[in-house]
Amino acid sequence: MRPENKINSKEDINPTVITYKQNGDDTYISIDTFMESVKMRNPGEPEFHEAVREVVESIWELIHQQPKYIEGNILKRMTEPERMLMFRVPWVNDQGNIRVNRGYRVDFSSTIGPYKGGLRFHPSVNLDIVKFLSFEQTLKNSLTTLPMGGAKGGANFDVKGKSDMEVMRFCQSFMNELYRHIGEKTDIPAGDIGVGEREIGYLFGQYKRLKNEFDGTITGKGISWGGSRLRSEATGYGVVYFVQEMLQNYGEKLEGKTVSISGSGNVAQYAAEKARQQGAKVITLSDTGGTIYDPDGIDENKLQYVMHLKNDERGRIKEYALRYDVEYLENQNPWSIKCDIALPCATENEISASDASMLISNGCLCVAEGANKPCTSDAVKLFLNNGILFGPGKAANAGGVAVSGLEMSQNGMRIQWPREKVEKKLQEIMKDIHDNCVNYGKTENGINYLRGANIAGFIKVADAMLQQGVV
Ligand code: NDP
Repeated sequence: MRPENKINSKEDINPTVITYKQNGDDTYISIDTFMESVKMRNPGEPEFHEAVREVVESIWELIHQQPKYIEGNILKRMTEPERMLMFRVPWVNDQGNIRVNRGYRVDFSSTIGPYKGGLRFHPSVNLDIVKFLSFEQTLKNSLTTLPMGGAKGGANFDVKGKSDMEVMRFCQSFMNELYRHIGEKTDIPAGDIGVGEREIGYLFGQYKRLKNEFDGTITGKGISWGGSRLRSEATGYGVVYFVQEMLQNYGEKLEGKTVSISGSGNVAQYAAEKARQQGAKVITLSDTGGTIYDPDGIDENKLQYVMHLKNDERGRIKEYALRYDVEYLENQNPWSIKCDIALPCATENEISASDASMLISNGCLCVAEGANKPCTSDAVKLFLNNGILFGPGKAANAGGVAVSGLEMSQNGMRIQWPREKVEKKLQEIMKDIHDNCVNYGKTENGINYLRGANIAGFIKVADAMLQQGVV
């Protein structure tokens, strides 16, 4: 059943030109002319351009068949955010010096529910990144089956090397501006890279103080103050559930497989935990310094150590290699190591075309994106053209925002569900997402999950937009 692992770099872009009537005349657009207009409206934003292009390529044929989307100018409307916010975040460090960062919130779409998406604190954050993540989030949230629009935000603030008090002062200053624009019926932020339980606590504390209201505006809250059970685990667990669905559909199973994971943060930790619980052997984790390779597998005790190291001590993954006497690949990612399943769970563009070629040559069967867009477009094309089961992030990592949606429901009802109930719902949602991808992603050569996810996410938002008029 395994795909043939020969590298095939054939490009697979549908060159269809759409013809439609405008004022009685034939008018033509192609993917390239549409993308030119996107680039003109959004200069210097390559990540956003790439995210839009990937979606447009997937839905081009559908649009060709259904003129209502062209007549409703849906493509242009869906690629224009409803609003974008940029703001100054001044704060004082422990030495008494004034520091300034830039905050962002891009509210892309409220078509199927209030804006919903995480906040990222990382030096690389800029408008391009936030816009691309917010666009992706809109389609991801659409796929979850829950009523959530799309947003994303953050700041170019580096939490690394900051004291708790510095992080708190930064979060408070960030919220001093953001609180005006969010609310449980308007926009509900959550965590992302650099924004974990600690930061959510500081952000929520300040929001509550400014609004004089205790409500469900932020998700990822602590269990004792409105959080949902399993929210921390949800993204990583969801990725593994999605992989299991893909494998089952393909006549394979996770048990006994070797799994390579990148990152060692929230998503990576819980993907590792669930993969191990389901009988797989996890052999790598990484961080910005390098990769640890543990051929015996990262067992429960070792994983507990990683969680303590990264979440409490905020240490480096290299310390794992020293403690357990395993190989440490300094400044390297895990993709040169042979594995059956690769789960990139760190950041954007961490699997290049040459990494993808290496994975394919080494017999990798399945790649699922725990992180947002960790595979470059060239890498994705290689996976698709070589029969690798490829789970795109907007489907595979949607478990986090799905449980955030469940947190909103619990907050609305003023109740807290037991862990088992949340996990069952998460499993059902991941199966629904998978089945939706299969439904729209069927091709002569098997399931193209990328295409399936883009089409399923698009149709729901686009149809709702048409029903709501020109808004
Ligand atoms: P964390 O901040 O908890 O962890 C990120 C991990 O990735 C850290 O181990 C970090 O290393 C590593 N990392 C970051 N940048 C790089 C890099 N350039 N090279 C190598 N390693 C790197 O973030 P999350 O786990 O929450 O998020 C990871 C990804 O998953 C992101 O793309 C995020 O958008 C996505 N995601 C997260 C969701 C969530 O619920 N948390 C939901 C859906 C998607 P170091 O420790 O050195 O910083």
